[in-house]
Amino acid sequence: MEFADSPAQAAEFAAAAMEQLKRRTIKPTPNNFMVWYVYASGQMPDLNKAIDILDSNHQDFTETRNAELFVRFFSTADEEAAVADVTGKLTDQVNMMLGNISSAQGDADAYTDALVEAASLLDGLDGNEAAKSTIADMVESTHEMVKKNHVLEAQLQSSTAEIERLREDMESLRQEAYTDGLTGIGNRKKFDQSLRLGAIAAMESGEPLCLLMIDIDHFKKFNDTHGHQVGDKVLRLLAETLNENIKGQDTAARYGGEEFSIVLPRTGLKDAVVLADNIRKAISSKSVRDRRSGEDLGKITISIGVSLFAFGEPIGGFIKRADQALYHAKRSGRDCVCSEDDLATSTLSFSA
Ligand code: GH3
Ligand code: MG
Ligand code: MG
Repeated sequence: MEFADSPAQAAEFAAAAMEQLKRRTIKPTPNNFMVWYVYASGQMPDLNKAIDILDSNHQDFTETRNAELFVRFFSTADEEAAVADVTGKLTDQVNMMLGNISSAQGDADAYTDALVEAASLLDGLDGNEAAKSTIADMVESTHEMVKKNHVLEAQLQSSTAEIERLREDMESLRQEAYTDGLTGIGNRKKFDQSLRLGAIAAMESGEPLCLLMIDIDHFKKFNDTHGHQVGDKVLRLLAETLNENIKGQDTAARYGGEEFSIVLPRTGLKDAVVLADNIRKAISSKSVRDRRSGEDLGKITISIGVSLFAFGEPIGGFIKRADQALYHAKRSGRDCVCSEDDLATSTLSFSA
């Protein structure tokens, strides 16, 4: 991230940042300071919006909250901005050179035309052999120059294409970094990102955000019985089923091992539970077969926990409630869906 502020402005933003850190009793570490310096400068409107929303929800600024803000706004944003910046600058440079060459080309063409015209005028006159030959030489060298310019232009055009290819390579590497190698759906990094961005968008729009945590039932036994490779196929089948059941705004990811998650923006708890149950039914209705032997390997079932984001809460709390709901589903006999509402009622009936 670049700071183009004048020394006086920078001093003002730094003082405002220190004031915020002191008032909110946050340690003035470089990362914490960066969050509040940028907040004071207003350079990142999304950061200001997120902080203002947290303030309006009367959320305390703990060290963890500050660290979350730093990761959310600076760690990946910096990486991506750096890549975009370098490729953008390179492309600009090449385009500028191409522009210069084509204007030089135009000048050279005009110059050649003028020389050719002068030569034809001289042709009509007697004598002036020396002048004619000088002009012929000049025409010749101008043609040479134009030819070289054409070569240079072609080279630069291929450099532009190469830069575009590099940009695409970087884009696909970036995609790969967010993809789970086994199942092809999002990985944990993708999950973290979707949840962070989903939480910001939910706070901005006021629309609900839900999270499903999905875990395969008795998968250890399945692996032990049929082998890890067949187990891997089941993981792919589950990932496919998740993808089939979500829409464009939703993100399915492999949270880790045999645990998956779906981030559901603009979805309330009831709808999320309905979707979760559809996925559960879709999985349990599939029969798993060993492709080689044709043997029926029985049914796979999953348990799902669902939570609803409470605006302003730390992301960790949101995940934890989905996890608790998932374990409630496991305790309730597996192959079922439980939401955070079920946790509340079970706690109530427990204490009653
Ligand atoms: P529960 O119903 O309580 O979830 O029981 P479980 O056996 O599914 O849970 P447990 O946590 O005891 O075991 C999870 C198993 O998931 C252990 C491991 O064999 C399996 N597993 C985790 N990652 C992979 C993977 O990448 N491939 C395969 N084939 N199996 C995996
Ligand atoms: Mg399991
Ligand atoms: Mg598990």
